[in-house]
Amino acid sequence: MSKYLSDKYQRLEAYTPGEQPRDMRYVKLNTNESPYPPAPGVVEAAAKEAARLQLYSDPVCADLRDALAARYGVKRENVFVSNGSDDILNFAFMAFAGGGVPACFPEISYGFYPVYAALHGIEARPIPLKADFSIDPADYLGLGGFIAIANPNAPTGMALSRDQVEQIVAANPDHVVLIDEAYVDFGAESCLPLVEKYDNLLVVQTFSKSRGLAGARLGFAIAQAGVIADLERIKYSTNPYSVNRMTLAAGIASLQRDDYNADNCRRVMKTREATVARLKEMGFEVLPSLANFVFARKPGVDGEMLYRELKKRGVLVRHFSTPRIRDFLRITIGTDGEMLTLFTKLAEILKGE
Ligand code: PMP
Repeated sequence: MSKYLSDKYQRLEAYTPGEQPRDMRYVKLNTNESPYPPAPGVVEAAAKEAARLQLYSDPVCADLRDALAARYGVKRENVFVSNGSDDILNFAFMAFAGGGVPACFPEISYGFYPVYAALHGIEARPIPLKADFSIDPADYLGLGGFIAIANPNAPTGMALSRDQVEQIVAANPDHVVLIDEAYVDFGAESCLPLVEKYDNLLVVQTFSKSRGLAGARLGFAIAQAGVIADLERIKYSTNPYSVNRMTLAAGIASLQRDDYNADNCRRVMKTREATVARLKEMGFEVLPSLANFVFARKPGVDGEMLYRELKKRGVLVRHFSTPRIRDFLRITIGTDGEMLTLFTKLAEILKGE
């Protein structure tokens, strides 16, 4: 830290993204990326735009928003896009919390939520999970603040039903309820159909997971026009060109082949079920996941030790040192082959080899 950093950031603790080490080739099961390449046509579409990089990208993102609107049965005015869903979450905290409005979110959830609150001087109200690590919708009724819920939640992978989300949205009519559906395409129920009915619901999704475009940085949000206009106001007050030309083209091409993306999601879900079964055979407790990762612990075995030993053996998973979840590993679902490597290395470690 330099002596010039503003007082308001002196105690800011930044988010720590999952490792992207370069010292060797790892089986990378730590950042919930897709193990499959982007849809056919995506790379070509992006490359074509690369030839026009002397020109700014379209700040309105009209073509991509129209493509998303057609895909989800809404209008362009209901769609917002930006540089990854992280960018949209940040804008939403800026737009809908602060100035006396706290930000409420599950205590164990996406680690960025408390960081956005701290960054913008927003009072954070973490809400504990139940003993089984699920979210209790009853804890979110009439909270008097902005609410952000990842559904499925991360890192648990556990999901609320659309009806449960609706209870929360209906019970907080004076504040925006943001449902972060980064992992929804792997089997959970999306609450997009509720957008029509509730002007305080903001649904955020991403191309990073189910469409294999994490490196392109593309997220989108769907809500009624007023909330979208608020997000636009923040975007135009920071960086109107937040989505680059290549990514705009990649997003449109990816939506044209959403059948390919859906096939890959089904493949991931199948591998997830096999992974859960295998981990349980090995004595792990695995939370019921509807995401492209599982959250598992082996009673009596130190989670950090497992993480470190797996890393030594070339397999990266995610470990959190938060007390309640310190014995868990969050394991991204890779290809069947990658998961076999994981099982082999886990068995070696557990046998003490
Ligand atoms: N929400 C959740 C719950 C996540 O786990 C992630 C991935 N780290 C994101 C949002 C952000 O994804 P992206 O910025 O790649 O769209």
